[in-house]
Amino acid sequence: MKSRFLLFMVGGVILGFVLGALFPSFSEETSFVGELFLNALKMVVLPLITVSIANAIFKMETVERFRQIGVRALLYYTFTTALAVVTGIAVVLLFKPGVSVPFSGSEFHREITFSFKDLILSLVPSNIFKAFVNFDVLPVIVSTILFSLAFLSIDWNRKTVLRQLISELDAALLKLTGWVIALAPVGVCSLIATKVAQMGGAPALKTLFVSLGVYVLTVLTGLFIHGFITLPLLYFFFAKRNPYSLISRVKEALLTAFATASSSATFPVTLSKSIAAGIKREVAEFTLPLGATINMDGTALYEAVAAIFLAQSYGIELSFSQYVAVFLTATLAAIGAAGIPEAGLVTMVLVLQSIGVPTEGIGIILAVDWFLDRCRTAVNVLGDIIAAVISSQLEERDGRVSP
Ligand code: ASP
Repeated sequence: MKSRFLLFMVGGVILGFVLGALFPSFSEETSFVGELFLNALKMVVLPLITVSIANAIFKMETVERFRQIGVRALLYYTFTTALAVVTGIAVVLLFKPGVSVPFSGSEFHREITFSFKDLILSLVPSNIFKAFVNFDVLPVIVSTILFSLAFLSIDWNRKTVLRQLISELDAALLKLTGWVIALAPVGVCSLIATKVAQMGGAPALKTLFVSLGVYVLTVLTGLFIHGFITLPLLYFFFAKRNPYSLISRVKEALLTAFATASSSATFPVTLSKSIAAGIKREVAEFTLPLGATINMDGTALYEAVAAIFLAQSYGIELSFSQYVAVFLTATLAAIGAAGIPEAGLVTMVLVLQSIGVPTEGIGIILAVDWFLDRCRTAVNVLGDIIAAVISSQLEERDGRVSP
């Protein structure tokens, strides 16, 4: 039953490409099927994020526990993001994709502004409801953590009612998520077919694999190394288990990430599959929402590759200190990117500005970003899951959660 479902998922992805390329108008006419699936996922996301974080923090029992798990997770996220950027820099220097695509005029007219000051200011929402309405995940997470910590610090005897309510809501939301996941094969197929059709059907695939082929290959190689070698090695080092069997157990989450191009929209699937794969619930419920929002290894790698690719295509020689600037800004830009489609393109402005590459260069890579966005989102989600397993294992090892 389980393997049949996986087969449907993989079949959905392949069929999506075929339908979008060969029957673009049919794919666009039936795009509501994918939208319905995406709506259903999004419907669950914010309630699930709030309830699961609250549930996880209530189970931690003391603020000290929260601090330990939180600090460990943040250190790990920064470490893996930095590793991803280094991989990105290495592959782009090796493949030199920009040399074969000299810059030929700008087609990029989107007004992009991004500043870290605004990001930091937005962390604490002045109006919680507005943060929910605007789907601003990071402020929702920050306020949920603050409220839950306040709850953790009050008199013990008054806690039972809310605790029970949250724990029951959590169980119900995961049940609901299971129903949404059942729609995934069809939803995934329609989302991909629609996107391929919107990008122009079969000719879009030609741009992807021919005109910008070397660039696409460079990004894919980097993502492959990080997702299938570096992260599995880290997992093996910390958890002493077979990483590829974990990857195969959470495949549905990776395919959903590929189809939606959004770590946040994928979150319900990520959480439910991770718990099913044996990650301790209280650790998963805290680290996964946080990871889906700030831990973006794929995005970090991508931003480094894209920025250096554009520098190469503009004929700009980068100095060692400019590579260091790429390293630092790509790491920060990935942390600042929201878990939504093409968020990485917005924060990439920061990386480009740090090395003096004109931002309109983004126009060159826009034609293939729809595809690369999906691939980096899958690696983002994989990074979150592996972080959660390692965190869960370390907590077990330290005897802080029952094995
Ligand atoms: N789409 C990515 C995500 O949701 C972010 C990005 O654009 O890189 O994880």
